[in-house]
Amino acid sequence: MSSEIVHARPAQDESGPRRPRVGVLGAGQLARMDQQAAIPLAVDLRVLANDPSEAAVLAGVEAVVGSTDDLDTLRAFAVDVDVLTFEFEGIDPEHLRTLEAEGHRLVPSPAAKLVAQDKLHQRQTLGDAGFPVPPWIRATSADEVVAFAEQHGWPLVLKAPRGGYDGRGVQVVDDVDEAAAMLAGLPDGVLVEPKLPIEREVAALVARTADGSSVVYPVVETVQRHAMLRELIAPAEIPAALADEAADLARRIVEHIDATGLIAVELFVTAEGLSVNELALRPHNSGHYSIEGAVTSQFEQHVRAVLGWPLGSPALTAPAAVTVNVVGPDDGSDPASRLPQALAVEGAHVHLYGKGARPGRKLGHVTALGPDVETARATAWRAVKILEGDAA
Ligand code: ADP
Repeated sequence: MSSEIVHARPAQDESGPRRPRVGVLGAGQLARMDQQAAIPLAVDLRVLANDPSEAAVLAGVEAVVGSTDDLDTLRAFAVDVDVLTFEFEGIDPEHLRTLEAEGHRLVPSPAAKLVAQDKLHQRQTLGDAGFPVPPWIRATSADEVVAFAEQHGWPLVLKAPRGGYDGRGVQVVDDVDEAAAMLAGLPDGVLVEPKLPIEREVAALVARTADGSSVVYPVVETVQRHAMLRELIAPAEIPAALADEAADLARRIVEHIDATGLIAVELFVTAEGLSVNELALRPHNSGHYSIEGAVTSQFEQHVRAVLGWPLGSPALTAPAAVTVNVVGPDDGSDPASRLPQALAVEGAHVHLYGKGARPGRKLGHVTALGPDVETARATAWRAVKILEGDAA
């Protein structure tokens, strides 16, 4: 008798009901957490991974390793699944349109996805529809940036229209030289905005199915450090009327662009009120608290929405939930090496993504629930400080 490691699932037994097959383009931590949600629903997930070291592959998800940039690879992947969805923005929109034209089902649709893939297109679409967006222009030359600065003052925020995440591709510029340096690397132009006096950043998560049913999660507050989400507070500590306005805005945006699946709407709160920062048409870091902190996690909701199944309750399971991201410390050490100590923190739900440790890299998160935000925050931070080697 010989034995072997099996990577692919055996064929389904044709005599029983067929398990749905969901294909995820991308294989990072979001796909890894999609899998966690797919298991109890008996949904077969398969991911397309650019690299076998990606977080979902490490978790044992059935994976095809191939380039998400290559149309033939995408085609071959699409043939074997019932529906395609995403865990990141950056897939060529032309490829997505081709897959759709060839009869594959994509959730969200390529047209909706495009709005989130390109920051300029997003500002244009939402602004034209009357949703509140920051003042903005598309600039291809330093002169255009200077003209905008004459109106709004320095500093400005310049953003690469595509491919950015966790603040990569976003730069605060103080003068024309800095603007010119950024433009030099982006010949197709940049999104230019004033540096807004942001009081808070909040996010509203919406799940929506193709028949138009939707649910909105309680609005959460996101706290950024180095333009990357560091801490997430559910529910946001803002007046109820503002939270209702944010939730309503998110639902209307999602309907306007006809998005399906799980959608995160990131919003700025300034003295003037709410404005839309950006959309993510996929599960999002601002929803990680929902694994323990909501009746239905964002990942389960995404799987349900992708398959057109009834959506679950987005209600919180505790008065407060706080999630803190685990970030690779500067000394290059791996938080996983301190996991046993962190697990001694009662009430801390530790999630590590199995990724290689590098300074500044998002490697996991910790969620804690509590009777109030302060208690939950203290528990989550205690575990994170241990993991990051920063415990006093
Ligand atoms: P990414 O797509 O990389 O997440 P964002 O456009 O969301 O980038 O910007 C990242 C962070 O930078 C935001 O969460 C916010 O903290 C800050 N930021 C972005 N735009 C502005 C702005 N116009 N004014 C002030 N801060 C901004």
